Amino acid sequence: MKVLVAVKRVVDYNVKVRAKADGSDVDLNNVKMAINPFCEIAVEEAVRLKEAGVATEVIAVSVGGKACQEQIRTALALGADRGIQVETESGVEPLVVAKLLKGVVDKEQPQLVILGKQSIDGDNNQTGQMLGALTGMPQGTFASEITVNGEKLKVTREIDGGLQTLSLSLPAIVTTDLRLNEPRYASLPNIMKAKKKQLDVLTPADLGVEVTRHLTQVKVQPPAERQAGIKVEDVAQLVDKLKNEAKVI
Ligand code: AMP
Repeated sequence: MKVLVAVKRVVDYNVKVRAKADGSDVDLNNVKMAINPFCEIAVEEAVRLKEAGVATEVIAVSVGGKACQEQIRTALALGADRGIQVETESGVEPLVVAKLLKGVVDKEQPQLVILGKQSIDGDNNQTGQMLGALTGMPQGTFASEITVNGEKLKVTREIDGGLQTLSLSLPAIVTTDLRLNEPRYASLPNIMKAKKKQLDVLTPADLGVEVTRHLTQVKVQPPAERQAGIKVEDVAQLVDKLKNEAKVI
């Protein structure tokens, strides 16, 4: 079984993001970039399927500029077998990413496509669902457990207030939630080996997709600064301030 995993290059989750001075975008100057955490979970799940003898090949695909090859190499170091970069400018919107991923699905014919549930930069939570609509493949989103059973895939989903279990026919699409697994760290020997693994570069034209824009980012602004707190002498003063200044009691 071939597994395709979509990995996105995003600002590292440890970085405190800043808006550019003119508010046009997030400032990416000298900012550490990484694989989107939910995509890391997707790679881990695919690699575990391979280690369990269920998957035969794991392909990591990323859509973006040349820099996203770094994240593909990370996926290769984590255990993916080969990589595909679909070369576009960065910041391509989810519908276009989904169309490009559909092109890769048509070309590679994977039995399973694993994506993150959400990218932590745009917080879109759209690409997996759109890929499901474009390919007509069944999808299990927000997965916290998956099991392959012959031609069927059992997906446990995290939904409000509980878990839902679905049975999907393969080929299928899964988007990962946080509790699906704990991704491993790439070892130094595997980072070295990853440099030699196959990484193909495709253009949108190779996949018959036109990159269009339907959205314009109007403004990016940081949340309002929190005001400094004050120290009170005793409970009586606290109650007095809550009552007469904050007027919350
Ligand atoms: P989003 O819909 O942007 O929240 O992204 C959900 C998931 O779609 C991500 O976790 C990735 O698995 C995949 N994805 C989104 N954008 C890209 C991209 N540029 N390249 C590869 N995968 C992507």
